[in-house]
Amino acid sequence: MSLIVQKYGGSSVADLDLIRGVARRSIAAKNEGHKVVVVLSAMKGETDRLIRLAKAASEDPDPRELDSLLSTGEQTSIALFALTCQSLGEKVKSFLGFQAGIATEGPHGKARIASIDPARIQTELAKGRMAVVAGFQGIGRGGDLTTLGRGGSDTTAVALAVALGADVCEIYTDVDGIYTTDPNVCSDARRMDRISYEEMLELASLGAKVMEIRSVELAMNYDLPIHVRHAHDPRDGTLICREDPSMEKTPVRGVTHSMNEARITLVRVRDEPGVAARILQVAAKAEIVVDVIVQNKSVGDGGLCTDLSFTVPAGEYSRTMALMSELTSELNAEAVVGDDQIAKVSIVGVGMRNHAGVAAKMFQALASEGINITMITTSEIKISCIIEKKYAELAVRALHDAFELARPPSGE
Ligand code: ASP
Ligand code: MG
Repeated sequence: MSLIVQKYGGSSVADLDLIRGVARRSIAAKNEGHKVVVVLSAMKGETDRLIRLAKAASEDPDPRELDSLLSTGEQTSIALFALTCQSLGEKVKSFLGFQAGIATEGPHGKARIASIDPARIQTELAKGRMAVVAGFQGIGRGGDLTTLGRGGSDTTAVALAVALGADVCEIYTDVDGIYTTDPNVCSDARRMDRISYEEMLELASLGAKVMEIRSVELAMNYDLPIHVRHAHDPRDGTLICREDPSMEKTPVRGVTHSMNEARITLVRVRDEPGVAARILQVAAKAEIVVDVIVQNKSVGDGGLCTDLSFTVPAGEYSRTMALMSELTSELNAEAVVGDDQIAKVSIVGVGMRNHAGVAAKMFQALASEGINITMITTSEIKISCIIEKKYAELAVRALHDAFELARPPSGE
């Protein structure tokens, strides 16, 4: 017998028929002899609807009241789920975040789970009953309701699973797992049976559509396997788990891309200590998150100058350009140039650590399509290239092909 936390997303509890379907699924797991705790999101669209209402009521909604309002979304879905289970003959109780012992810290709207005292949930399980818990919410130090940020029900589920010592956290959603790349971009993208926590975090842009990344970090820290599955499809899904040797057999396991990028270059700034620090301090002070950073010393002028380029989220492009332009004279830069028509394509795989020639193969695949690379960065298990935005999808398909990701690797 194992202890399973099952989390159903908003699309899986969007109406009473769907709720009945997933309730049956949870009851079936319990009847197989497992201890089952269910965590729910609000019904599909409900959180957005509540936000719109709040904005209609007040131009600048007070965060405390907004959290009170938003937590009703999950309150509704858990109560309806419990009622549905009861109508199917199952004794079930629903619990709001605070009733499930979920204490938070940090600001309204983006609180973090500080601790969980799952005593009431354990009592239910000890009586042989399922418990249904509202995702996305908790109670702050001052006793007010808080929410965890959009997509936060995944974090509730993983944190609860950790607190209860669960064997697995099952995330039920509207896709049947994690794919080698975005199936909308590449028709032969393949569902992976297993993926390591680290790979999942690096493939964030793929995963983010499926589950909240913060919850994967939490699961990795506690080595809690996450099983991503389709709510209304019995197929096997993808297990996000600790790395094992079979995963290293293939150098690359996934391809991802992001269109949300812009590049800024400070041309020919002085090559001396403190210049890069100054540039990035200005960005940091403005709370602009910098991603890829490349500095390249000019060789033509005796090495006195250097170009420094970095990327920021596309939405921060004009603000960053303005801030950097202000720095031009202070740093003696020749110019500040930028480009917001760029994309980042990345290949990810734990096997990269011990396979040679992965980068060469990646660059060749892009070159074969006539795609120019303007920036390159690597981490232990990822290589990213900045390219022209219009080639992003072509690049993804070329890389998926080059690394033969459509074919299941041995061991899967
Ligand atoms: N209902 C919240 C949202 O829409 C939390 C969640 O679904 O995980 O963001
Ligand atoms: Mg969600």
